[in-house]
Amino acid sequence: MYTVTLLAAINCKLYVVHYLCPMKCFLRKNIADRVALGHPWIFGNELGESQGTAEPGDIVEVYSSNGSFVGKGYYNPSSQIRIRLLTRDKNEAIDDQFFFNRINEAWEYRKQIGYVENCRLIFGEADQLPALIIDKFNDYFVIQTLALGIEKWKGAIVAAIQKIFSPKGIYERNDVPVRTLEGMQQIKGFLSEPFDTNIILNENGLKFHVDIENGQKTGYFLDQQDNRRAIQHIVKGADVLEVFCYTGTFSLHAAQYGAKSVLGLDISENAVATARRNATLNGYDEICKFEAVNAFDVLKQWVKDGRRYDTVILDPPAFTKSREHIDKAVTGYKEVNLRGMKLTKPGGFLVTASCTNLVPPDLFLQTIAAAAKDAKRTLRQVEWRTQASDHPILWNIPSTQYLKFLIVQVL
Ligand code: SAH
Repeated sequence: MYTVTLLAAINCKLYVVHYLCPMKCFLRKNIADRVALGHPWIFGNELGESQGTAEPGDIVEVYSSNGSFVGKGYYNPSSQIRIRLLTRDKNEAIDDQFFFNRINEAWEYRKQIGYVENCRLIFGEADQLPALIIDKFNDYFVIQTLALGIEKWKGAIVAAIQKIFSPKGIYERNDVPVRTLEGMQQIKGFLSEPFDTNIILNENGLKFHVDIENGQKTGYFLDQQDNRRAIQHIVKGADVLEVFCYTGTFSLHAAQYGAKSVLGLDISENAVATARRNATLNGYDEICKFEAVNAFDVLKQWVKDGRRYDTVILDPPAFTKSREHIDKAVTGYKEVNLRGMKLTKPGGFLVTASCTNLVPPDLFLQTIAAAAKDAKRTLRQVEWRTQASDHPILWNIPSTQYLKFLIVQVL
């Protein structure tokens, strides 16, 4: 902030008026086009001079080196991403109403593209609310505020959700390590009156138990909700193996679409217990079985044992979050897909996904091709997809496209 002092004449009297102005930050001369093209992140080394001061998390104004207005955003001197822009409109105030408007717009957009009950309501940068995640599970909302500047507006965000949806409950799943990079604690808890955090949601005609408090991430992976429908035609009468099944969402879809048998594997005992409850909830206990195992161990063994399936589904966790380990992640994808292909009968189908942001789509496809070469199998592409559209992809923010989802016939 800095103070501007002006003399104002009101009713023929002179007044001294002090304005508190947000800090002004000027971009260096030769910065990448990224910011000019609409990317909301401004790194410390892209900033030159500044006027005034700001507390961590404050709203600041950003200008180009020649003084033209770029945008307003929140500031954190201890984060590598020094400023995240919230608006490029000089006249748009950043206040409670701003957060209400953004969340309301995001909801209108979700409804327009066909999401009603469950959706990622706010997908951070893609909804012009950097570092904010809000998942809507019918009447329940789970939020993550992953940067200090957005954490400061948590009250306004919760008030907006209350006003728009009159929800049954709001919960924060801020137990995520990335918060420590912003100097914040990892926490989880209620942001509304307490409620039973074990809820049931409906998806594609099935029901799923979701544990908002202790489930992975926000409790449920909405990003695959449209892809789960994409397996409809390749599981009829099939023996299906779902590896990294979490709470059995693809498995239950396979059963619903007519699979003969489904085996789901996950390393987490909790996930497997919920998967079994989901099978019971939908009347598929006979068809769907689940085992808590380390997939890397059993896949290797099962290939040796000569086990074969009509359809194999692989949806592993992110293999890396840091650039230094991309090679390792690629090796991991190659290995797991190689095994998946070997476990697929000739003419069967492989469904394979990757949520590692740092592995771009072309690299993922190359990796699958390399696995096919080693497995000496030919692939025939059935579907090549990405995340559900309630996780919008902004073309000027490449990292908003993170999920790769491929269905191939393995000849
Ligand atoms: N397909 C699921 C999401 C899978 S997330 C859905 O749409 O809901 C990845 C899963 O892999 C997590 O449930 C995690 O527990 C599991 N996992 C991680 N490492 C594993 C391993 N070595 N073996 C088996 N499962 C593993």
